[in-house]
Amino acid sequence: MQSNNKKMAGIYLHIPFCKTRCIYCDFYSTTMQEWQDRYIDALCKELEMRASYLKGEKIETVYFGGGTPSLLSAEAFNKIFDTIDRVYGMDYCKEITMEANPDDLNKAYIQQLALLPFNRISIGIQTFNDKTLQLLNRRHTAAQAIQAVEECRKAGFENISIDLIYGLPGENRQSWLTDLRRAISMDVEHISAYHLIYEEGTALWKMREQHKVDEIDEDSSVDFFAMMIDELTKAGYEHYEISNFCRPGKYSRHNSGYWIDTKYLGCGPSAHSYDRSNRQWNIASLEQYITGIENGQPKVEIEALDLTTRYNDFIITSLRTMWGLTLKALKLKFGEELYNYCLTNAQPHLTTGKLIMRDNTLYISKEGIFISDGIMSDLLWVE
Ligand code: SF4
Repeated sequence: MQSNNKKMAGIYLHIPFCKTRCIYCDFYSTTMQEWQDRYIDALCKELEMRASYLKGEKIETVYFGGGTPSLLSAEAFNKIFDTIDRVYGMDYCKEITMEANPDDLNKAYIQQLALLPFNRISIGIQTFNDKTLQLLNRRHTAAQAIQAVEECRKAGFENISIDLIYGLPGENRQSWLTDLRRAISMDVEHISAYHLIYEEGTALWKMREQHKVDEIDEDSSVDFFAMMIDELTKAGYEHYEISNFCRPGKYSRHNSGYWIDTKYLGCGPSAHSYDRSNRQWNIASLEQYITGIENGQPKVEIEALDLTTRYNDFIITSLRTMWGLTLKALKLKFGEELYNYCLTNAQPHLTTGKLIMRDNTLYISKEGIFISDGIMSDLLWVE
């Protein structure tokens, strides 16, 4: 993998609609689907308004996330693709992903998707335990999820990713192992698995406050993480990022872009953009987003990134991946002082073997991965 591609960029499109809300989710979305047509027009307009944001860099990846992109019609997707192609060009696009919910992926819809430019589909399965799916207010069963993957395969999708969540209420070693083995048996190219987070303000967070659900303990979290690494790597998946596994070469180009300092343009409410010197994000409100775009006054917040913020981002994003932190790049980008600071703080972890140095690159070791947050935070610059 090219570790710092200056010429390529990504586009992220946020599709902020959900039929219902899952109890753990804190992504921005709304159930007001009647706004869809107006939203697609606004999204296309934003793509046009921000034509110069990427300063002519070629688009390598397009990613539809949400929310629930699989609520959009083929017609809506066509409109968006036409705009991207006209304004940015898609000739260099290698990966075009859509996130999808299993309940939307019926045979007829998948066949329509197969005719669109998508070459990667990312399906939110979360767990194969129907009772837990119900508790989470997911709208599908395990059987529907399995069928959705099979239908995508039959329709010709050769790059399928699935999302899992672990550390779920009531989960134990056996049920997590069952989930992992079922995921492996689907023979998909990519698996993302995130530990459940009780995000403040979500319905799940309130349920924990009311003692209606119990959070799993720290030891089980570590154990489940270890099981995941063990099972998936035994099955031939590369553990290329803390929460991501892939068949050789099938890493998510788009998400890897976030970890290797690629520019990206994010459109839609709550979407973030990055151009290596600033981060900016759109307002997390469908109504205000649309009116802002329609009036030619987008509601955006911008944060200029100073040297130490960029250094901290570099530490966190590069150490997460199997490509590691290249010390030469660190010195070049951030200078002697931060380079020495990083090496001094890395030393104790190098001594214990939690960090490894190879070919002038720092990697978190197999043992270190269990305390990766702590290692990264030790290397961060604190004012
Ligand atoms: S998890 Fe996905 S489908 Fe569920 S509420 Fe969040 S964005 Fe919507």
